[in-house]
Amino acid sequence: SAEPGSPYRVVLLGASGVGKTAFASIFAGAADSMDSDDFEMCEKEIEVDGEPATLTVLDSWDTDNEWAQECYMQTGDAYLLLYSVTDRASFLRASELRITLRRFRPAQHTPIILVGNKCDLVRRREVSVSEGRACAAVFDCKFIETSAAMQHNVWEAFHGIVRQLRLRRDSK
Ligand code: GDP
Repeated sequence: SAEPGSPYRVVLLGASGVGKTAFASIFAGAADSMDSDDFEMCEKEIEVDGEPATLTVLDSWDTDNEWAQECYMQTGDAYLLLYSVTDRASFLRASELRITLRRFRPAQHTPIILVGNKCDLVRRREVSVSEGRACAAVFDCKFIETSAAMQHNVWEAFHGIVRQLRLRRDSK
C-alpha cells in the first residue's frame, strides 16, 4: 500500500453506464468532454483538509471481463463503487462487486465508498436513498449520492476517499 507522499490508487468500479467515465473526467478536469470514452487513468494532486494528496484514478471500463476485473480488484488502495440511482440492475451489480472485492481483500480495511450517481434524474429514480444507505451499512462502507452531470458531490466522494486513506495510514 501507499507510503505517505506516493500516489493513492483509486479505482472506479461499477456497471456500464453508471458514470465512471464522467467521474474520471471531472477528476481530470475535463468536465466538458463528459462523453469521451478514451479515458482510463489520471494522476493528479489535490488538496484535502489543507493537506496535499496525490491520487491516481483508474476507470475500470470492463468489469464483465473476469481477468480485467481481478486486476482492478488487486490494484486499488481504495474504491469508489458506483451505481446509478436510475438503474436497479446497476445497484445489484454494485453489491456483487462489493462481495468480489471482499474476496480479494479479506483482511484489509480497504476504503470503499458506495456511490449512488445520477441523483439529478429525480423522475427516473429506481433506488431510494435509504436503500443505498442500508446497503452501505450492510457492506460496512461509506455512502454518498452524487450527480456527475450537475457536478454535485463528486469531489466530496474523492475527498472522502482521501480522508479514509489518511485515517488508515495514521492508525498504523
Ligand atoms: P460509464 O460507462 O460508467 O463510464 O458511464 P459514463 O460516464 O459513460 O456515463 C454514461 C451516461 O450517463 C453518459 O451519457 C453520461 O453523460 C451520463 N451520466 C453520467 N453521470 C450522470 C449524472 O450524474 N446525471 C445524468 N443525468 N447523466 C449522467
